[in-house]
Amino acid sequence: MQSLRRLQDFEVQDRRVLMRVDFNVPLDKKTGAISDDRRIRATLPTIQWLVKGGAKVILMSHLGRPNGQVVEQLSMRLISIRLGELLGCPVMYAADCVGESAEAVVAALAPGEVLLLENLRFHPEEEANDPLFAKRLASLGDLYVDDAFGTAHRAHASTEGVAHFLPSCAGFLMAKEVEYLSKALENPTKPFLAITGGAKVRDKLKLLGNLMDQVDGMLIGGGMAYTFLKAQGLEIGTSICEGGLLEEARRILAAAKDKGVELLLPVDLVVASGLEHGSPYETVTVERIPVEMGGVDIGPQTRAIFADRIRQAKTVVWNGPVGVFEIPPFDAGTRAVAEALASLTAPGRAASDATTIVGGGDTAAAVEKFGLAERMSHVSTGGGASLEFLEGRALPGVEILKG
Ligand code: AMP
Repeated sequence: MQSLRRLQDFEVQDRRVLMRVDFNVPLDKKTGAISDDRRIRATLPTIQWLVKGGAKVILMSHLGRPNGQVVEQLSMRLISIRLGELLGCPVMYAADCVGESAEAVVAALAPGEVLLLENLRFHPEEEANDPLFAKRLASLGDLYVDDAFGTAHRAHASTEGVAHFLPSCAGFLMAKEVEYLSKALENPTKPFLAITGGAKVRDKLKLLGNLMDQVDGMLIGGGMAYTFLKAQGLEIGTSICEGGLLEEARRILAAAKDKGVELLLPVDLVVASGLEHGSPYETVTVERIPVEMGGVDIGPQTRAIFADRIRQAKTVVWNGPVGVFEIPPFDAGTRAVAEALASLTAPGRAASDATTIVGGGDTAAAVEKFGLAERMSHVSTGGGASLEFLEGRALPGVEILKG
C-alpha cells in the first residue's frame, strides 16, 4: 500500500495544527459522564508530540449523533476537561467549531497550547462534506493532521473535505492503525488466523470473503455462527440468524474448502432461554439445540479447540465477541479467546513472536473488561473503520493522506 504522509516530516513550531481526533466516547446514560476514555488516551502521543514541538494545537471531533443541531448533552466541554486531566495542562474550549468564537480562541493560542473546538456535528454541513464548511474549518489551521481512524470510513468535511485546502498528514494513531491492519492484509506472518463473532453477520461475511485468500484458518463464533450452522441444515432454536445470508454462508464454506482454509464452527454451545442476567442455560452439542433456547456462547469443547488453533498462529485478527460477553457467565468463551491471544505475547516469549489485532468496538471493550488489552499487539480504536479496512474497502479518510 502507498504509505501515508508522516507528521514527523512537517515543521510544526509556531504553526496552527488543525487535528481531527475521534473523541466520540461513550457517555453514561444516567449521569452523562464519560464511561470509557480509551479513544482520548489513544491520541495523547500525537497531541503531546505537537505540544512539545511548539505547535498551536487545535483539536476537532464529533460526539454522538446530534444530527446537525446543537445538543447540550453532546457538548465537547466535558471532553476538554478530561483531556486536560490526561495531558496535565489546561485545554481551551471554543463554543463553536467555526466562525467568530472559534477564530477568536485560535488567534489567542500560544505555541504549545491546546484547544478543543465544539462538536463538529452540530453543523449539518459536516456530515454532508460541504466544501464551504470544510474551507471554514481549514481557515483555522496551517497544517491538517488526521488521527481519527475511527471515522476514517466516512467522507465528512473534517475527515476528507478539509484536506483539500491544507497540507495534510496522518497522526501517530492513524499511522499505527493503518500499519497494523495493512500488514495483516498484505504481508501477514503465517499461520494467519481470523476470528469472527458478534451480531452483525452481513459485515463479517464480507470480511471473511476478503480474508479468504490470506488466512490459513477461520474461527467463527458468537451470533455469526448460527447462520453457518443453519446453512449446514442444523436446527438453531431461537439463536440469532440472518435468513437472507444462508446462501452467502454456504459460498464461504465452499470457498474455504476449495482453498484449503480450515474453517471452524462451534461443536458445542451454551444455550439460554433469555438474554437477561440469571436466564436458565445449559451446554449442548450443536446437533442438540433445544427449539425454545438460543445460543449465547461457545461451549467448553469449542473453547479448547479455538484456543489450540490460536496458540499455533503467528498473526491473528479478531473482530466480534464469540458470545454475549456483557452478561456473565456467557462471557466465558470470549474470555477464553482473549486469554489464548494474550498467551501468544506472554512475557518471556519473543516480542516479535506473534501479532494479535483486535478490532471492533465490542471486541475491544471485551479485552479491556478482561484486563487483557495491554497484552494485544494492537487494539483498534475503529469499529466500523477497521472492519471496512479488513473488508478491503478504501477508506476516504485514509486515502486522502496517501502519497
Ligand atoms: P458486533 O458489533 O457485530 O461485533 O456485535 C457485538 C455484539 O454481539 C455484542 O453485544 C455481543 O453481545 C453480541 N453477541 C455475541 N454473541 C452473540 C449471540 N450468540 N447471540 C446474540 N448476540 C451475540
